[in-house]
Amino acid sequence: MSLNHVRPWRNIYRRKSRRIMVGDVPVGGEAPISVQTMTNTLTTDVAATVAQVQAAAEAGADIVRVSVPDEASSRALKEIVRESPVPIVADIHFHYRRGIEAAEAGAACLRINPGNIGSPERVREVISAARDHGCSIRIGVNAGSLEKHLLEKYGEPCPDAMVESGLDHIRILQDHDFHEFKISVKASDVFMAAAAYQQLAEQTDAPIHLGITEAGGLMSGTIKSAIGLGNLLWMGIGDTIRVSLSADPVEEVKVGYEILKSLGLRHRGVNIISCPSCARQGFDVIKTVEALEKRLEHIKTPMSLSIIGCVVNGPGEALMTDVGFTGGGAGSGMVYLAGKASHKMTNDQMIDHIVEQVERRAEELEAAPDAAE
Ligand code: SF4
Repeated sequence: MSLNHVRPWRNIYRRKSRRIMVGDVPVGGEAPISVQTMTNTLTTDVAATVAQVQAAAEAGADIVRVSVPDEASSRALKEIVRESPVPIVADIHFHYRRGIEAAEAGAACLRINPGNIGSPERVREVISAARDHGCSIRIGVNAGSLEKHLLEKYGEPCPDAMVESGLDHIRILQDHDFHEFKISVKASDVFMAAAAYQQLAEQTDAPIHLGITEAGGLMSGTIKSAIGLGNLLWMGIGDTIRVSLSADPVEEVKVGYEILKSLGLRHRGVNIISCPSCARQGFDVIKTVEALEKRLEHIKTPMSLSIIGCVVNGPGEALMTDVGFTGGGAGSGMVYLAGKASHKMTNDQMIDHIVEQVERRAEELEAAPDAAE
């Protein structure tokens, strides 16, 4: 249950956007902020791509994007869509034929910029294909590939140019009476992306797909995304997110979720609250948290667990968590359940014991009527 009504300093007022559907996943309006990722296998390698989609979905991805660079990929897409547990977005650049093929293959959404497809006739054909197959569209403006006339007008990539590009593409879809679209204005520069998204948010009610593009490796990209996306989400901007990392798509999903969890915007799995540890620790906090993170990956029920080295902060943190463990003396510590001290447990058995307690609590929460996110 949300406690935001008694903790107003935690409130985030989401920008009001239109709701569209990406397959069976609502994006925008009051819908939960969805987490996306993208496969990096060859799309023509159906088995590898499906395995990656499934792994991402298992990690919590609501939507997965797949590149469709050629006709063979369009053919593969059909099989991938059939096998995928989540809606598939087809990533198309320039080739209007690929857009039509992807819509026919069952893509839930096309990532395509209508202004870059070519003649008005081709634009019309792609939009018709999307409409006929219940496919939404994501306009994906990227600071690195802005239209030439905008670069000439503005001199260099900048938020104004990105927003103008986005609004131009929006106009084309609206002129075709097509409204099932969302939009992104990504840049690898956090300042540019944040400024572009803020401007865009004021000029359209379309759902917004957030991303910091080419953010970098797991560590640096996570930090960049947490700062860029975190700030925007905190302002209430963003209906779906993708964290771009030079890493496994599963990591992108995990990072996306962690950003949303930190802001109380989505809840999934065990939120572990742990201390950094110091000389006072009654057990090895770091190793324990590492082990628990792995052992609790299968829990999808939103819940909290505090793992605190000693009584300085342990009882206080345990008050606010579903399950807690606080280190004590003589090789054992105190287990807390629903905020109350429950029983002692020896350090050598505590990991198995905590996993059991968390699994039990997850079952209880699942059985409770208001357990759902
Ligand atoms: S809770 Fe205790 S062990 Fe953990 S960092 Fe604080 S003082 Fe150190």
